[in-house]
Amino acid sequence: MNNPKNILLAVGTISIDKTMFLPSPDVNVFGLGNQTVVAPKKGVIAFQGVGNCTETCPKCNYILARNIFLNQVQSLAVQCPHCGTIKSFHER
Ligand SMILES: [Zn+2]
Repeated sequence: MNNPKNILLAVGTISIDKTMFLPSPDVNVFGLGNQTVVAPKKGVIAFQGVGNCTETCPKCNYILARNIFLNQVQSLAVQCPHCGTIKSFHER
């Protein structure tokens, strides 16, 4: 880990609270100010659910979260793996 703010969540290395679910080990989580940012690798969608909302990157339209319920991710942000834009879900 070169950047101390980055925590790579790899399977079996960190015990995660059961209330937090990451769909893929190809996802980084880091702090930015008082916000938690989920940063998927290219080709990875940060959140996949069964809700009624799909969120895309405001700059390049990459799908950041598919079929989610917005109240599940209100305190989170996602960094677009394509262009680097950070989108906060609570800024609406
Ligand atoms: Zn983007």
